[in-house]
Amino acid sequence: MLVQRPIVKTMEWSMPEETSLYQNVMQQFDRAADRMDLDPNIRKILAKTMNEIRVNFPVIMDDGRIEMFTAYRIQHNNALGPFKGGLRYHPSVHTDEVRALAAWMTWKTAVANIPLGGAKGGIQIDPSKYSATEIERITRRFTFALGNTIGPEYDIPAPDVNTNAQIMAWILDTYLSTMPPQERQRCFHVVTGKPIESGGSQGREKATGQGVVYLIERWAEDTGLDLSQTTYFVQGYGNVGSWAARLMEPHGAKLLAVEDHTGAISNPEGLDAQDLSDYVLEQGGVAGYAKAEAIDHETFFKTKADIFIPAALESQITADTAPLLDVKLVAEGANGPTDIEGDQILLEKGIHLIPDILCNAGGVIVSYFEWLQNKRSEFWDLEEVDRKLHRIMLQAYDRVLVASEEYEVDWRTASYIVALARLEKVYKERGIFP
Ligand code: NAD
Repeated sequence: MLVQRPIVKTMEWSMPEETSLYQNVMQQFDRAADRMDLDPNIRKILAKTMNEIRVNFPVIMDDGRIEMFTAYRIQHNNALGPFKGGLRYHPSVHTDEVRALAAWMTWKTAVANIPLGGAKGGIQIDPSKYSATEIERITRRFTFALGNTIGPEYDIPAPDVNTNAQIMAWILDTYLSTMPPQERQRCFHVVTGKPIESGGSQGREKATGQGVVYLIERWAEDTGLDLSQTTYFVQGYGNVGSWAARLMEPHGAKLLAVEDHTGAISNPEGLDAQDLSDYVLEQGGVAGYAKAEAIDHETFFKTKADIFIPAALESQITADTAPLLDVKLVAEGANGPTDIEGDQILLEKGIHLIPDILCNAGGVIVSYFEWLQNKRSEFWDLEEVDRKLHRIMLQAYDRVLVASEEYEVDWRTASYIVALARLEKVYKERGIFP
């Protein structure tokens, strides 16, 4: 029987009025660093991002106007390998958020034990206000503005919120177009999450949701739960949320409620994950889905179920919403969905947690596979991708389980300890130049 340990407080849980997302990351980091007694010099290095790039660039709109856009690429750490992390198109994209997301990528690749570092980026934009042709020009001009900030052996973007395989294809094409012709065939791995025909990998689109479900399967096994008898609900029904739901369905688990940016819906008889996904693709959100009833945000959080999968944005499980949750497990598909106060409440309520840097690592793991396939001019079939993903996810789960026992800490702290121990070892082996 799996027991998740209570949190060990090694620092004050003081919350400034407005805790920034990066402060949130740093509080999680400090808690683990204190507990494992991380070398103070390495702690200093990892507490800072390496490079922060902000670009402002003009784009011609469909009606001939010129609009200026602000975008970011923040590279947190590349001690383990090239910087790696998604690009997000959202109005909330700003330095603090991207910094936090970049740091989470460093911990995530370290927990998964793959040879990549951490970065994140995005454009401060509401993509729903722009046409497809405008999004294409914005993407291409952003890629051009980044120039050599990204590169196949240096920093490799991927999809995130409001970006997809099509956007990755435009990034690839723009990057290749700015290379000398002789170099182009060697640069397909400048971006991952591409369409299959443009060098993408089998299984990348579903990878994050697939990884979430692999770990839920394992957690259910460890806790003695039969997944076919479980219920769950999902926040966010984009790439991660809808794939997690569609992959839970074959287990016979019942999807009770879904919330996205258009509203929340519920059906106590169970929602058809694929049918809802088709509806969202057509309508842009879950609102108005006929085979469910509309519910409010609070009722959504109060859904009594076995599992909650947050797969939308950060800071959703907070002092306001965590007390409402009536579940056995929170499996974090999103990055940073739980803030520090939310974390504490989940622990006090005895709710198990599979933390983001472990739970949603499937995306970056299959991105790593895509990168490898491009470098070697190989093409792996879906069975091979899934088998390798499954193995890496479960190995990471086991490392976190062992660390939680060894250090007697909660799972978020344990996953940080696994990541920080790996980074600490590498820094100690290599030393600091000069
Ligand atoms: P997406 O753009 O495909 O979907 C985002 C979903 O969140 C949409 O359903 C949207 O309606 C919903 N949403 C937005 N604002 C909301 C709000 N205020 N309340 C409720 N729902 C809201 O994005 P995605 O790629 O599925 O990413 C979701 C989360 O997973 C993000 O935190 C992202 O960083 C993380 N993540 C994504 C990947 C990946 O491979 N795409 C990998 C790891 C982690």
